[in-house]
Amino acid sequence: MSSLSRFDPVELDDLRLQNPVSRIFREAGVTLDSRGMCRCPFHGDKTPSCEVKDKILRFRCYGCGERGDVIDAVRAFTGKSFPEAVAHLGGTRPLTPVQRQEVIEQAAQAETEREVENERKRSKARRLFGGGLAIAGTHAAKYLERRGIAVVPRMWGDLRFHPALKYYAGTPEPIGEFPAMLAAIRDVAGTIIGCHRTYLDPIEPMKLSVPGGGPSKKIEGLAENGMIWLSPRGEGSSLITGEGIESTLSGYQMAGELGAPDDAAVIAAISLGNLSGSSVARIPHPVKAKSTIPNGIPDHNRPGMILPDHIDDAVFILVDGDSEAFVTRAHAATAGQRFYDLARRVFLCPAPAGKDHNDVLLQLISEDV
Ligand SMILES: [Zn+2]
Repeated sequence: MSSLSRFDPVELDDLRLQNPVSRIFREAGVTLDSRGMCRCPFHGDKTPSCEVKDKILRFRCYGCGERGDVIDAVRAFTGKSFPEAVAHLGGTRPLTPVQRQEVIEQAAQAETEREVENERKRSKARRLFGGGLAIAGTHAAKYLERRGIAVVPRMWGDLRFHPALKYYAGTPEPIGEFPAMLAAIRDVAGTIIGCHRTYLDPIEPMKLSVPGGGPSKKIEGLAENGMIWLSPRGEGSSLITGEGIESTLSGYQMAGELGAPDDAAVIAAISLGNLSGSSVARIPHPVKAKSTIPNGIPDHNRPGMILPDHIDDAVFILVDGDSEAFVTRAHAATAGQRFYDLARRVFLCPAPAGKDHNDVLLQLISEDV
């Protein structure tokens, strides 16, 4: 089936154990801080949102969703295929029975540590979301209303409000406490795996301008393969989906213009990478040197957001026009092909250049008045 089958899995684990992910990042000119964080080389990252952890043999970007092991890292940097990336790392080597046993034990140890860390992250996220207040009537609801988004009961469930949430900027002490909109990130079975936070200005119902310039949106816990439900969970045979919460809610309000049914499921995919899933290969960025983009052909072994089974009709993908155009389009194309391969009807819904769907909604509202 996949190119994986040509290799011995234990020999591949040996290769992963012999080649630290951090080395691949450093060789590509990426600077890692003492915690293994860096500005993500795979999207236009302003503050460090990519984590490299040699101990668990993984890297992960909390911004764009790119992630994987050392072989995935080589593929992401170079656009090489799986066998080419294995060769790039020196290839697999034959192992003695004793070596095999050692590799199996070390790989199992890394896997255990990965799962312990993931469970710690998931439970932290559940506690955070569990401590949130119902969103109706709060500063967070006012924030959405100010962006033209009517907070109707249909979408109250997985959005909550925290009146004073600590903001950490990489130091032991928080830089302050701010109100925040919380959103549950669930896996396809409905279990909460992460909590998305949008920090808000304490006075005005708008996004927080973070002292020191950090991001106003952060994720606690995990996001990969997950989703933010903005309509009742488990309902809908068609889907409206996009990257961010505001953009996706705006798309829902314009369902009529998109040609989407009013009872469509509404789900934010959190990041472009999680919307598209990984591609089978990456190609050079058309204009940006040393940068690669997905090639548009989805790798169904690394799927990103998992589509619930009941969504078996149409998928409307909201494509914002305010981010780097080649990256956005490459992810949208990959997402579209992925859902098409899964036998859904696919509609790509682009916003005009320089605008996201919330800008379009606000413009429609101002023209109506
Ligand atoms: Zn990234």
